[in-house]
Amino acid sequence: KEKYGYQPEYIQAVEEFLTTVTPFLEKNPIYCEKNILGQLIIPERLIEFRVPWMSDSGEWMVNTGYRIQYNSALGPYKGGLRFHPSVNQSIMKFLAFEQIFKNSLTSLPIGGGKGGSDFDPKGKSDGEIMRFCQSFMQELQKHIGPSMDVPAGDMGVGGREIGYLYGEYKRLNGYQAGVLTGKPLTFWGSLARTEATGYGLVYFVKYLLQDKGDALKDKRVMVSGSGNVAIYAIEKAQELGATVLGCSDSSGYIIDEDGVDCELVKEIKEVKRGRLSDYIAAKPNAKYVENASIWTENIAYEVALPCATQNEIGLDEAAILIKNGVKVLAEGANMPTKLEALHQLTDSGVIYCPGKAANAGGVAVSALEMAQNAQRLPWTFEQVDSELDSIMKNIYETCATTAKEYAKEDDLLTGANIAGFERVAKAMLAQGLV
Ligand code: NDP
Repeated sequence: KEKYGYQPEYIQAVEEFLTTVTPFLEKNPIYCEKNILGQLIIPERLIEFRVPWMSDSGEWMVNTGYRIQYNSALGPYKGGLRFHPSVNQSIMKFLAFEQIFKNSLTSLPIGGGKGGSDFDPKGKSDGEIMRFCQSFMQELQKHIGPSMDVPAGDMGVGGREIGYLYGEYKRLNGYQAGVLTGKPLTFWGSLARTEATGYGLVYFVKYLLQDKGDALKDKRVMVSGSGNVAIYAIEKAQELGATVLGCSDSSGYIIDEDGVDCELVKEIKEVKRGRLSDYIAAKPNAKYVENASIWTENIAYEVALPCATQNEIGLDEAAILIKNGVKVLAEGANMPTKLEALHQLTDSGVIYCPGKAANAGGVAVSALEMAQNAQRLPWTFEQVDSELDSIMKNIYETCATTAKEYAKEDDLLTGANIAGFERVAKAMLAQGLV
């Protein structure tokens, strides 16, 4: 903490993890004796680089690029690329650290990594995005490969960006479909990858509720964000009979008590790349609130799905969620809930589903994309979706069982951290000091 105090998100993620794994370490002192925890906290490799590019008006621009290759005990480094102005080393390290345990929980052979840049894609032309992606890949390609490190998308990096990144990689290294995941379907992307994180999140909640003798049908749900994760969480929740009351972007939020029109949100955000405020023009009965967090809205709902960004829910928002009657909070985003808010929520009986378990569907399908690329065979949507469903069921059950063994029922954070850690730690121990 003394050394990395200037990296608050990284400290937050490590602290949240360390506070929960003690019961496992007490039962298994070998991991302390061999200092596995000490090794795990330090990334295997941290790459930071310059990304020069030219704007449409001929200006010489520069951004910082990152790739954190955190842990390869279970397989090639795997994790998304984020393009957002808030990106810095602290955010990259927290995301890569979380990714280790998330990937471990999928039970698939993937290590943990993350990368990105402080480049802001908002308002940039297609040509600018392409030139930036090409420059970013000119450096990144030295460090990645299908058996070495396989990046994917994250905030600000969707099919278009992955396409440009892949094109540049191919120009420099030749055809290697398995070097990136989240690729468009036209060149070996996986069906259901676009939907995977949002659908997977809802499958996780489905299995949790099923375990309690309940279901998503007729539940009222609130979602933050209106990007990739949010849109497909809304779609699947509604397919399972829930009503999604609202969603948001970084400018404000909408409330539509008839249920959010998911196709309209897709049209605004995915096709027109516009603002959520445009929703009102087509749905005058809905309300739009500018420059405010959706978690400050006073309205009754049972399920909260934060799918926008880190630290969206602090103590004030948590108090409103409790007042609104929330029973389950499942994280589509990475670390959207601050540590103190998380404790306030669980103390009030809210079941908290940590992102590293609940949003693991995206990376799980990315690993299935790697498998399809290695086989050179595409799987059907139904095949991938059904694998995703059973992976999420398995993650839920693993977290729930581990929680009961080491902490208490419904302490899914402890369950996820210990189960994720155990698999990585065993592999590290077996592989020795490397
Ligand atoms: P997108 O870029 O597609 O969408 C992000 C959404 O969040 C946008 O609607 C954006 O609004 C909104 N947003 C960003 N910052 C804020 C803010 N400060 N306040 C309110 N809204 C905000 O990203 P994804 O959907 O891919 O990712 C969302 C989260 O899910 C991230 O935490 C990511 O790490 C995590 N995640 C993503 C996975 C994936 O497969 N994509 C996998 C696992 C986790 P605007 O349009 O205004 O920018």
